[in-house]
Amino acid sequence: MTDTNSSKSSSGGKETQVTTGSCLCGNAKYTVTGAALIQVLCHCLSCKKASGSVFGANGMYKKTQINLQPGSEKSINVFEDKTPESGAIVSRSFCGNCGSPLFLASSKHPENVTVTSGTMDLEDGMWKPKMEFYCKRKPSWMNTEGTREIPSML
Ligand SMILES: [Zn+2]
Ligand SMILES: [Zn+2]
Repeated sequence: MTDTNSSKSSSGGKETQVTTGSCLCGNAKYTVTGAALIQVLCHCLSCKKASGSVFGANGMYKKTQINLQPGSEKSINVFEDKTPESGAIVSRSFCGNCGSPLFLASSKHPENVTVTSGTMDLEDGMWKPKMEFYCKRKPSWMNTEGTREIPSML
């Protein structure tokens, strides 16, 4: 092979995957480098309201894995969410123009940032939940496979 422009990471011989993401209008763009620490569905009331859907579907990363594209900061607003049943204060970042929820940062895990899966540019099979929080509120019609179901939080 003569591909000298390969951008594979040399750490441990593993390729580091870079995933792009953006809000709906594209004013806020980011990249995520490497794999998520954990990918979760959350059925808590706060995630329902914040996502506008029946559950949240998010991946948690180390802060250092997330890079905002230049100029994106000015589009991002933050809501300090004190409603979570877990007692954590969650900083919910969203695009001030189109309203897409982008990131969550919990006061309980200040070293991590959680990324909303729907704003990541994913192909089928790239994202799968491993754990589900607040299953006491999980809809009865919803069946998932291969997740660890937790009644509330860990
Ligand atoms: Zn936007
Ligand atoms: Zn939640």
